[in-house]
Amino acid sequence: MTDCLFCKMISGEIKADVVLDDDKVLAFRDINPQAPVHILVIPKEHIATINDLDEAHSDMVGQLYLVAKQIAAQEGIHEAGYRTVMNCNADAGQSVYHIHLHLLGGRLMAWPPG
Ligand code: AMP
Ligand code: ZN
Repeated sequence: MTDCLFCKMISGEIKADVVLDDDKVLAFRDINPQAPVHILVIPKEHIATINDLDEAHSDMVGQLYLVAKQIAAQEGIHEAGYRTVMNCNADAGQSVYHIHLHLLGGRLMAWPPG
């Protein structure tokens, strides 16, 4: 997708503060962090929203969580705890239409979320 911000980060056209880069997944620090640790884990395949996922994406979705778990340990937040969130469409506040798992930690989280 030529007009997708996150696809441009994958291609290197736009610079990202990369935490992890493998063949299927890229993880980078959020530009507007909502917690001391705020990292976005994205698939390299362009998928706009959760609603666009199908059975063929099962392994990739699992990989997003395995990467989030690994980064949480790297960042030292795995024992205190952390939150993973994937927003879908307008009511959830999705602003970039390339799916991304937010990994948030380093502070106490409130529930319910806003
Ligand atoms: P969402 O609102 O769930 O779609 O999340 C999109 C996230 O992307 C927000 O937390 C933004 O701060 C973040 N974001 C937007 N542009 C950039 C960028 N250039 N680099 C890193 N994160 C970004
Ligand atoms: Zn994209």
